[in-house]
Amino acid sequence: MSNKLDGIRKDVTTCTRCELSKSRINAVPGSGDANSKVVFIGEAPGRNEDLQGSPFVGTAGKILSEALSYAGFTRDDIYITNVVKCRPPNNRRPNKQETNSCKSHLQSELEIICPKVICILGNTAFGSLLDGNAITKNRGKIIKRDDQLYFVTVHPAAIIYNPDLRQVLKDDLKALSNILDKIKKGISIELDK
Ligand code: SF4
Repeated sequence: MSNKLDGIRKDVTTCTRCELSKSRINAVPGSGDANSKVVFIGEAPGRNEDLQGSPFVGTAGKILSEALSYAGFTRDDIYITNVVKCRPPNNRRPNKQETNSCKSHLQSELEIICPKVICILGNTAFGSLLDGNAITKNRGKIIKRDDQLYFVTVHPAAIIYNPDLRQVLKDDLKALSNILDKIKKGISIELDK
């Protein structure tokens, strides 16, 4: 299975499908366990990710790791990726053309991993995957779309500007962990709209 992910890594690191390929240092494919039951999807690589070619390795990555550990996950037993795999200049939001260009890379990752739940981190992933917005109002929700379960929470980078969200992210990931436990045990879960 990981051979297939290696193929995607190669496709991503050599991709020139959108303008972001011109300004990046490194494209940043997803990383983690190909057998993970959950895939976390953020917005785009930032400066540290661009330098190192790995997702969530900067300040937001540390915040995410802390919340994951609080909820009983480790970085090694999950898979983390982004809606776009190359850093937008000055960390601006990726535009529609860029997210559309990168969509097939994300779809390929999801087709290989087949997660039980996709954890959406922040508004860009929420908008791109579920056409959603207003993440702070919708966070904590579990949504089913086309037979796929999605869990919605804030992006760890939002905590840098709003420290009150630190515990919110931790509690959301704990709730996600409980949902995965229920799925494992065949217990039905209550869905949101
Ligand atoms: S952002 Fe995605 S589509 Fe654009 S160049 Fe990078 S990998 Fe290719």
